[in-house]
Amino acid sequence: MPEPAGSSLASRDRGLVWHPYAPLDGPEPYAVEGAEGARLTLTAPDGERFEAVDAMASWWCAVHGYRHPALDDAARAQLERFSHVMFGGLTHAPAVELAERLTAIAPGPMAHVFYADSGSVSVEVALKLALQYQAARSRPRRQRFLTVRGGYHGDTFAAMSVCDPVDGMHAAFPGVLASQVFAPRPPSARLVVGESGEEHWETDELAVEEWAGQVRALARAHTDELAAIVVEPVLQGAGGMRVHHPDCLRLLRQVADEHGLLLVVDEIATGFGRTGRLFASEWADVRPDVLCVGKALTGGYLSLAAVLTTSLVGEAITRSQFRALLHGPTFMANPLACAVAGASLTLVEAGWKDDVPRIGRLLTTHLAPATHLPRVVDVRVLGAVGVVQLDEPVDVPAVTLAALRRGVWVRPFRDLVYTMPPYVTSDADVRLVADALVGAVGEVHP
Ligand SMILES: *Cc1c(COP(=O)(O)O)cnc(C)c1O
Repeated sequence: MPEPAGSSLASRDRGLVWHPYAPLDGPEPYAVEGAEGARLTLTAPDGERFEAVDAMASWWCAVHGYRHPALDDAARAQLERFSHVMFGGLTHAPAVELAERLTAIAPGPMAHVFYADSGSVSVEVALKLALQYQAARSRPRRQRFLTVRGGYHGDTFAAMSVCDPVDGMHAAFPGVLASQVFAPRPPSARLVVGESGEEHWETDELAVEEWAGQVRALARAHTDELAAIVVEPVLQGAGGMRVHHPDCLRLLRQVADEHGLLLVVDEIATGFGRTGRLFASEWADVRPDVLCVGKALTGGYLSLAAVLTTSLVGEAITRSQFRALLHGPTFMANPLACAVAGASLTLVEAGWKDDVPRIGRLLTTHLAPATHLPRVVDVRVLGAVGVVQLDEPVDVPAVTLAALRRGVWVRPFRDLVYTMPPYVTSDADVRLVADALVGAVGEVHP
């Protein structure tokens, strides 16, 4: 149907629908007309149409691209059985099968699964669980969390409280967020992958030692108040796309053990192969007590997250005053989402070991020219994630448009232009993504 002039989707959207961290009178969004494989078909506010490789995989989620036949089939098959039922007193095959598979592949011996409806809620549940765990062990005053600066764990209140205290939302809600214990950001590290695939980590070892000392001192000073350590393993996502050495995660595991804290590992962004290990915790051989997954869990089809715990944590909760984990969302274990997640997991298991290093190699080669751009201070790749960091804030609308003109959808933030394309992205399309990032940055930030 032809649209009357002045009533494009973008103009109807503007002022009516809020977008993430965007003002109601912000720039008009691009309209998605379709999506297939790694590509989006977009219409700009002025009516210009673009075919673009989705360099963002819809914020880490769409690892198998769009309209994947196996995921479509899983959704359709479950739709023909039932779409949703309450989880109180009821169960269903998609939830049980997915829990069996998640506990089997998770790092460490995971025994229990709590389904949540988004990553933030799963973090909320993990933090709540840590307090209940400590109360069950007769340490009810342990109600704070130790974390590192530069983190991002979601947008709900408890999750916000463990996000970076400067770049997060602490300033917007003064006096409302719980006060947590922040260690410095772990020193940056770089994974170097050689010609034949051999890997080694590079970091400033002295800086890591110094950081470890600071973490230990903080844990000692606050030991009686701390319930858990919360951290994104090896790669911090929305807090700055920074990489740290696996030794930092090992140190946090040690500190947690020494002080009777739970180690809560947030793999909502890093899980399911993205960093070059099925879970980023595996880079350090660390076994978390609590593991949050989300984002790519359903291949980007539906909102679903999960909190996995060890049997030790499960037993403590069962022995606690309330016996249950005190949470229970309406859409807990949504059958459609669990069914699609099962199908997504099958695809991940079949493909990530080839696709992630393949994409990583191509990004390493084809993002390298960005290092010669005057405003670029760092280019880094880990797994199927590539980051170009500037010495100034990115002109987001201009870089977005410059990349679209080169056939790529990218959504920069702060001083970062970055990509984590779907695992199904072809070699030619990964090159297109890298070239578009380099080209757009060079054009807009000369
Ligand atoms: C995205 C993200 C979250 C929040 O997940 P939502 O589904 O957006 O609520 C939490 N932690 C990390 C590491 C994330 O990347």
